[in-house]
Amino acid sequence: MTQSFFKVPKEKCDPQTERDWCHARCGHVCERCGMRRSVHAHHVLLRKHGGSDLAANLKALCDECHREVHAAPGDAYREGFLRRRFPKPGDFHYEESTE
Ligand SMILES: [Zn+2]
Ligand SMILES: [Zn+2]
Repeated sequence: MTQSFFKVPKEKCDPQTERDWCHARCGHVCERCGMRRSVHAHHVLLRKHGGSDLAANLKALCDECHREVHAAPGDAYREGFLRRRFPKPGDFHYEESTE
């Protein structure tokens, strides 16, 4: 459940696992351009803004998209690749499990 997903204490979250999971979710396809490329885990809410390493806060982006998202944050906010604050659980439409 998304609800309980957000209650996972930060210390229980393993960044590497979350990244792997994020990549597995998208099938190693960039979530922005849809190209099958090597993808990075991008933080939708930046860590310096309190974003977590949980997969719900990660998007798999290829090199190019990752650069563009950070180069043009205005577009990225509109497209949902960046957030200004921690989102409400309902903002995520994919189904997560904490297990
Ligand atoms: Zn891309
Ligand atoms: Zn990023």
